[in-house]
Amino acid sequence: MNGRQAAAEIAAKLKEAQVFSPEYEAGEIILEVCKNHPLQVFEITAEQKKAIDAITAERIKGRPLQYIFGKWEFYGYEFFVGEGVLIPRPETELLVDIAVKNLDKNSVMLDLCSGTGCIPIACTKETGCKAYAVELYDKAFSYLEKNIAHNKADVTAVKGDALDNGHFEGVVFDAVFSNPPYLTGKEMEELQREVRHEPETALYGGEDGLDFYRQLFTLWRPRLRNGGIFAVEVGDKQGEQVKALMEKAGFTAEIIPDLQGIPRVVCGRRTEMRI
Ligand code: GLN
Repeated sequence: MNGRQAAAEIAAKLKEAQVFSPEYEAGEIILEVCKNHPLQVFEITAEQKKAIDAITAERIKGRPLQYIFGKWEFYGYEFFVGEGVLIPRPETELLVDIAVKNLDKNSVMLDLCSGTGCIPIACTKETGCKAYAVELYDKAFSYLEKNIAHNKADVTAVKGDALDNGHFEGVVFDAVFSNPPYLTGKEMEELQREVRHEPETALYGGEDGLDFYRQLFTLWRPRLRNGGIFAVEVGDKQGEQVKALMEKAGFTAEIIPDLQGIPRVVCGRRTEMRI
């Protein structure tokens, strides 16, 4: 059996199991096991076929491909992932683009609700800045530490709550980033089968999804220098509300769409409060 035939066989099985992008995932499985793209001409060994069948069987049960592989790519860097930590999403790369435009090797940034650490790690690698990453939950925190070491990134992991700014008494950041939990109660009920494997603590943002944004901006504003940026990922219908919350907390704010044109990030600059 060659690579292309194997990919077609996997895709057919995934499609039958109602996996959302069967061809794409089949290609990823071939690439992971054979280190070859299915469009290249190569024969599958018996050992590779065994590995492919095992992955496909597990995937059909609904476990996300990223957890099965145990790693996933974000902004060109490799991150360990598994149950207990949110899988890095491509749309989150928008936050790194903002860091690239605004930070350099003299900057210090903070990432809240850090999970795998994909945001601060990619930001330090791309800009040379120093980063601090805050994560509350044990499993996610151990992935954060592993990923910092794996990428040899200048990131300090801090175990703590994003809603408690006590850790950084006296520190002034140039930027604060966060991809907090922001799904609504209704969205949690309608979660895709795969997303149900991811931690609820990384997804659920209260009944209207805005619980974190209501506190983050006022809480962390004093830790941000004047003119410093605060950038957060938001759900596709939350842009206007989050922008308003940020403005109320003393920032000028704008909504930035992702590549599909969906409002995905709200980015603000700390302004002097007028009294
Ligand atoms: N983007 C994720 C999803 O749609 C949610 C991530 C989050 O809540 N920060 O499943």
